[in-house]
Amino acid sequence: LRKQEVGVEILVDGIFKGDQALLAKAITLLESSNPSHFEKANTLIERCLAKPNDSIRIGITGVPGVGKSSFIEVFGKMLTSMGKKVAVLAVDPTSSLSKGSILGDKTRMQTLSKDPKAFIRPSPSGSSLGGVAKKTRESIIICEAAGYDVILVETVGVGQSEIAVHSMVDFFLLLKLSGAGDELQGIKRGIMEMADAIAINKADGSNLEKAKLAVTEFSRALHLYPPKENGWIPKVMACSATEGTGIKELWDIIQAFTEQNRANSHFIRNRKKQNINWFLQTVDEHIKHFFHQKSSFKKAQAKMLKQVEESKISPFYAAQVLINEITKEL
Ligand code: GDP
Repeated sequence: LRKQEVGVEILVDGIFKGDQALLAKAITLLESSNPSHFEKANTLIERCLAKPNDSIRIGITGVPGVGKSSFIEVFGKMLTSMGKKVAVLAVDPTSSLSKGSILGDKTRMQTLSKDPKAFIRPSPSGSSLGGVAKKTRESIIICEAAGYDVILVETVGVGQSEIAVHSMVDFFLLLKLSGAGDELQGIKRGIMEMADAIAINKADGSNLEKAKLAVTEFSRALHLYPPKENGWIPKVMACSATEGTGIKELWDIIQAFTEQNRANSHFIRNRKKQNINWFLQTVDEHIKHFFHQKSSFKKAQAKMLKQVEESKISPFYAAQVLINEITKEL
């Protein structure tokens, strides 16, 4: 980025024109941890937020091997053939640990990545899930300004990252396999509860009957969950990414969801609620950053830490003393 630093106006102009190279550059700017880029990144987001759009944000989760990238490939191709522009982003909790990204990797979606109507961005790296999620959320805004109608946010179904993705999308899809128990699939009950649709993938060949059975079982299980605030009843269906079956049906479900939620205002209400949460989270982050970079804080913290280590003071009391001391200065 530094080699060929591009001005914000050029980036904004390029994004509004749908220039993929400039869009990619803009996202690199958002992902930069260099403080000198922060202001530029904020201006960029503000400019992009001002551009109206009519997008749908879809979260897709499921354990590794369930067929997420295969699914996104056919689903994405179907959407682009309908004339829609599709962006694929990822929140990959493993990439921040291993420094490599698994999700949203171009080599995993070979056909879609060559489609001029599709934009695929690998998962950003970061030291925390919160940081990675924030970058992805900002990338959504930039992609929408670039005219992408459908934003797919992919994540691995193994932990906290679903909650992060759920907090930035309109519709949450869980991909599952038939035949394997929930524990085997590493799917937590809470994730099932967040889903607006569950698709049993690999419903093909000798697996087809088992998949149909799983649809019935999951539909029954979902009835036991409390109803969703927006009145939507989660749908369960079977699909095959390799045969392309169930893919169109899933899009129909998403459209029905969008229609219903726009009609009863839950669509916009949910986005507002998400904005409030992002605002509060960002404030918390700034407050943390503000204190942690102060030398007086570091010094006072080190002092209290030593006392805790030596068991001279309880951790709770130590924290209270530290906060009292540091807020005295303000
Ligand atoms: P991901 O890790 O969730 O992204 O899963 P992949 O898309 O990489 O798929 C994992 C494996 O399952 C690959 O070998 C795919 O070819 C295979 N696979 C994906 N979808 C289907 C499907 O619908 N039917 C069958 N039979 N295999 C599939």
